[in-house]
Amino acid sequence: MIALNSPVKPNLKKLNKLLEQVNDNGWYTNFGPLHKELTAQLEHYLGVKNLLLTNNGTSALQVAAKAIGTRSILATPFSFVATVSAFKWQKDSLAFADIDKNTLNLSPDSVKQAYRKGCKADTLVATHVYGNPCDVIGLDGLSKKNNFQIIYDACHAFGIQLSGNSVLNYGDASTLSFHATKIFHTVEGGAIVFKDRVNFEKAEEIINFGIREKRGVVGVGINAKLNEYQAAVGLVNLDEIDNILEYRSELFYKYCEGLKDIVELPLWHPEANTNGAYMPILLKNNSQMYSIAQTLSEKNIQSRNYFEPSLDKIFVDSHNYGTRNSVSASERILCLPMHAHLKLEDVNKVIKELRAIL
Ligand SMILES: *Cc1c(COP(=O)(O)O)cnc(C)c1O
Repeated sequence: MIALNSPVKPNLKKLNKLLEQVNDNGWYTNFGPLHKELTAQLEHYLGVKNLLLTNNGTSALQVAAKAIGTRSILATPFSFVATVSAFKWQKDSLAFADIDKNTLNLSPDSVKQAYRKGCKADTLVATHVYGNPCDVIGLDGLSKKNNFQIIYDACHAFGIQLSGNSVLNYGDASTLSFHATKIFHTVEGGAIVFKDRVNFEKAEEIINFGIREKRGVVGVGINAKLNEYQAAVGLVNLDEIDNILEYRSELFYKYCEGLKDIVELPLWHPEANTNGAYMPILLKNNSQMYSIAQTLSEKNIQSRNYFEPSLDKIFVDSHNYGTRNSVSASERILCLPMHAHLKLEDVNKVIKELRAIL
């Protein structure tokens, strides 16, 4: 079978060494030495400051929301459910704007229309879908004009840069997931990159029960800390990340070359590199998408209609400023196998099968 995804397997020899170190330290969680080391290495590798590790990508969104202070959000409807449920969980009011039909990212035009029609959301929540950066310049301009903050769900965008600058440096906060199924993982884990140090410091308290060193409890917090075992997995996996990103990008280009004349591919940001996080294709309509998924499945090739449904179909009591492009994309999108264990010949096989069907 050609699997849709297959997690990176941490090098156990290296991992064991680090776990022995944890035992020697006798320090298993609460901002230990490996936690500190992983933070420093990630900041260096990604080219960011103010990176706070969390226990997963969903808590990263929730903690970012608390730290920068959100009450009402205008969100993209085309993302993983956690992008929005993280904010609903803390009772933020929710509205949706639409995506751009070519990039599948939140459309600045649609955001502009929403505010023109009276949207009062204090925070925009946008996802760099499949690792493809949003129009960060366009959205940034709108945020200044309409006085809203921006949180980017960057869970797919590990290693992505815009003209050499990390995409995580845009917005008031960007969140990452280090779940086992992601490009870089700590089994479960995540991180927030804050623009402002004050928000980083607030978030550091929030993930530790609201406790500030030497002052005790200074606010309402939660427990969202990454532990030393997870940090050890992260350090081991980070050693391999360059090879993984390079290989996945190679697979991505191979797919694009083989498919660009027979299916629609999301339009990639012209100034961004690729990370091969996903391999999305757009089919003509819902029935073609399903029949192709079915035929691939008969050939032992996994695929997934991801993201589906458009999130306004789940959060039906939200305000909707028009989500036509998102609904259409969610019905036609299909993600093909993409992971670090995938072989080039498997990609060729998937391409061949798709060319035969189409
Ligand atoms: C994986 C993912 C999340 C959730 O991250 P977890 O670490 O699984 O909590 C949120 N948003 C997007 C876009 C994701 O892909």
